[in-house]
Amino acid sequence: MFDVQQIRKDFPMLNGKTMHDQPLIYFDNGATTLKPQVVINKVCDYLTNYSGNAHRGDYDLSHEVDVQYEEARCLVAKFIHASRKEEIVFTSGSTDSLNMIAYGYGKTHLSAGDEILITVAEHASNTLPWFDIAREVGAVVNYIELDAQGRLTLENVKKAVTDQTKIIAIAEVTNVLGFQAPMKEICAYAHERDIIVVADGAQSVPHQVTDVTDTDVDFLAFSGHKMCGPTGVGVLYGKYNLLCETKPTRLGGGSNSRYNSCGVVTLKNPPYKFEAGTPNIEGVVGLGAAVSYLMEVGMDNIHAYEKELRDYCIEKMKALDNIEIYNETSHGAIAFNIKGVFSQDGASLFNTYGIAVRAGQHCAKILDEFLDVSSTLRVSFYFYNTKEEIDKFIEVCKKGDDFLD
Ligand code: PLP
Repeated sequence: MFDVQQIRKDFPMLNGKTMHDQPLIYFDNGATTLKPQVVINKVCDYLTNYSGNAHRGDYDLSHEVDVQYEEARCLVAKFIHASRKEEIVFTSGSTDSLNMIAYGYGKTHLSAGDEILITVAEHASNTLPWFDIAREVGAVVNYIELDAQGRLTLENVKKAVTDQTKIIAIAEVTNVLGFQAPMKEICAYAHERDIIVVADGAQSVPHQVTDVTDTDVDFLAFSGHKMCGPTGVGVLYGKYNLLCETKPTRLGGGSNSRYNSCGVVTLKNPPYKFEAGTPNIEGVVGLGAAVSYLMEVGMDNIHAYEKELRDYCIEKMKALDNIEIYNETSHGAIAFNIKGVFSQDGASLFNTYGIAVRAGQHCAKILDEFLDVSSTLRVSFYFYNTKEEIDKFIEVCKKGDDFLD
């Protein structure tokens, strides 16, 4: 049984934190999420009680770290339905994971004339590495057209794919328009043509059931901090055979099984060949606790409740004459503006009422051509938000006209 008031008790920042002397209303979950006490406790427990290094020591303390670290890997594998825990690589976040795919897989598998397909709705972290790799190997980045609403459809993927397409790199849910890509259908179509599909799951994995076995996606990137976990930790999922073919972008301690003075290096198998250096152990165990917590709440419950919040909010916003919404049928964030008000001024207004919303281009800087607007406000909910908070937000939307006086 999903009880939001009960859930809110788990989050210290929802119990007494104020902004501008008002109770905090946190609607910037697309940027990062609040942390439940179980995650904070898990991080503190590592730092307080067993803070040794991972995969290095031959004593009990180190063994305890290894057990907790690998337990987190198992939890993440279960959470996204990976077929084995070795398909889970811990990284510093989605950006790191996407760079690892571009430079570690793209660079060695793309040649001059090959094509990488993305969309204009991608986050910079799923755009810039591809631009750079394309330049380096002589490949090209082309765009799959979005439909009139801003959705990525299978039909448009089919229109964009050519004989040169080798990689399709797309967000499962985009961070401004919030539309869900038909991942399973895209993967099936791509695989018939030996095209690799890279999914940016930064805005999807925290909010819905993720099943990499069902979608058959080749690579998936996501961030711990957007799903109740600590910052500085994320995940690169890859099919095991593809991880074997992927070159680590960093080398060092922990990633090799032997090397000699002639420079002959034998790397470990995935995932360890990608995890050189002391990892973010408190981040990883914290992410494990976050994943356990989310599974306990239930990803289906989270998805259904967030839809209810979004539908409620959009209906109320649509009733306001001074609000322009850019994605009324979004599956994620709501992008909007207060008519005639610069988005950052809008965000400042919300701030004075204790409401955290995002303004600007949201790291999707080529989307403005599609939206025909240079910047937007964005609200993004998580399962601890409430309709009462939305009511307060709507009252402030109404005050947006104050700027025009
Ligand atoms: N991809 C998308 C769709 C995002 O929304 C974000 C962050 O907002 C990222 C990638 C980058 O995530 P991180 O900053 O955690 O690396």
